[in-house]
Amino acid sequence: MTSTPESSQPSAADGTAAKRERQYSLDEFDDPNVDPMSSYDGTTCVITDELEVDRRTLGTTLREQIKTMGGEQLMDPHAFVSTDEQRRQCAMLFGSCALLVVKGLGEFGADGFEAWEAAAALATAALAYWTSDLGTGIFHWSVDNYGSKDTPLLGKVIDAFQGHHKYPWTITKRQWANNIHTTCVAPLVFTTPTLLLNDRPTDLIFVGVFTALIVLSQQFHAWSHMKKSELPSAVLAAQDIGLLVGRRDHGQHHKAPFEGHYCIVSGYWNPILDDSGFFRKLEQMIFKATGVAPRCWSDDLNFIVQEDAPEGWGKGIITK
Ligand SMILES: [Zn+2]
Ligand SMILES: [Zn+2]
Repeated sequence: MTSTPESSQPSAADGTAAKRERQYSLDEFDDPNVDPMSSYDGTTCVITDELEVDRRTLGTTLREQIKTMGGEQLMDPHAFVSTDEQRRQCAMLFGSCALLVVKGLGEFGADGFEAWEAAAALATAALAYWTSDLGTGIFHWSVDNYGSKDTPLLGKVIDAFQGHHKYPWTITKRQWANNIHTTCVAPLVFTTPTLLLNDRPTDLIFVGVFTALIVLSQQFHAWSHMKKSELPSAVLAAQDIGLLVGRRDHGQHHKAPFEGHYCIVSGYWNPILDDSGFFRKLEQMIFKATGVAPRCWSDDLNFIVQEDAPEGWGKGIITK
């Protein structure tokens, strides 16, 4: 089914109206004596007085930019099948993470494993799990809002995230390594030197577990887009108790006003970051310092979203 958010999701239409209202409420900040940050209410995008021209053209500029992005989303089912090269990249990354944890446990247990060392290892892994959700949120927010497909190193990832917003179903069709491999190579820059040069067991275990979860978040993300009937019962249970990001939680990211729910490991940090206006404040600071506006400030909420795969798509080619 191809539809606009308005026709398929009543709540999206409500969000559109809410966002419009907020755009209009910017007028009250026309007063040159109003300090944008002191007037900041956590939801409204306030732009400094000197940059008034930008404010008027912001919606148009961002709309044009978004239009050019994510359009090259591959629709050929063959591109969703895992290749040996993609499997190799996944094996290297997860191999390095496993070695980090093994080396960390080895350092702890070099003179026998004491109870406090086992507790420290477990606590480190728990800390890595807890903070990895925050890490995915900040990363996801940055690529959703800044840069373009021409950005060095991250251009492909940035364009792919825009494509994901236009065609959310594609993530559910990719085979495992095909979906995961995109973020497997860059973290090797951190995991490899840590493995070779660091001997502190807590550092080793933290980097191993944190990196593995950040990369696996693409799989947790894919699960959050699947129907209950398509999910293994263990995954469903993990989503329901909040160990993995839930379908409802991530669904909010794909609905108007398109400016929150960026965390995709457990989703634990989503209400904390969204309710505190953390990202809006960060966007204000970046805008004040550089003049670059985030894409979520655009008032365009009516872009076409293709919710489901076209009828018969991938038949005979995509086998999970
Ligand atoms: Zn996104
Ligand atoms: Zn998504």
